[in-house]
Amino acid sequence: MPWVRQSCFRCGRNLEHLDLEYYQETLPLCGNCLNSAPQYHSLASVFYYQYPLPKLIHKLKFGRKLYLAKSFGYLLSKRVGDQNKPLPEALIPMPLHYTRQRNRGFNQSMEIARSVSQSLGIPILSSVCQRVRATQAQSTLKAKDRQKNVKNAFSVDHLNGLHHIAIIDDVVTTGSTVDELSKRLYQQGVKIIEVWCICRASLT
Ligand SMILES: [Zn+2]
Repeated sequence: MPWVRQSCFRCGRNLEHLDLEYYQETLPLCGNCLNSAPQYHSLASVFYYQYPLPKLIHKLKFGRKLYLAKSFGYLLSKRVGDQNKPLPEALIPMPLHYTRQRNRGFNQSMEIARSVSQSLGIPILSSVCQRVRATQAQSTLKAKDRQKNVKNAFSVDHLNGLHHIAIIDDVVTTGSTVDELSKRLYQQGVKIIEVWCICRASLT
């Protein structure tokens, strides 16, 4: 399995080619994030989006193999539970537009969040974020069009003084979607946003 072993703590980009002991880095940062960091504070991923993950994620989403969400969530909770830092107060699953959720019958990020919540004892905020625009599937678009595609895609309700949250997502590719949701969450007073995902595309 393509486990993530050494990645940029801000964006999750693969940094396995770097000798971090030489640099004495405890929180490795990639060159892209030095120039322009993402909106969210950090990203933790279990796997890179390489074989066999695209196949497994497809089985989960389109083959309704929900047991995969349970296992993925368990692995994710192991990954983030070992980080030796305060855990977030709540989990926010990446929302789907309701027509997509209705067609699929479930939201895979919610199913993953349920399993993380069970392992780490962090509550899920399931209805504070809505996807208000039915956007084109990000996987069909190039990087710069992805940013445009998700602009103003979300609405977020008042979060009652929540300070630290984690967004749960299945696959993060360029990060434009989590970036856009992060902007809305900051507007509601959140101060620290972590992204916890199952897969991070390794080449972006
Ligand atoms: Zn980075």
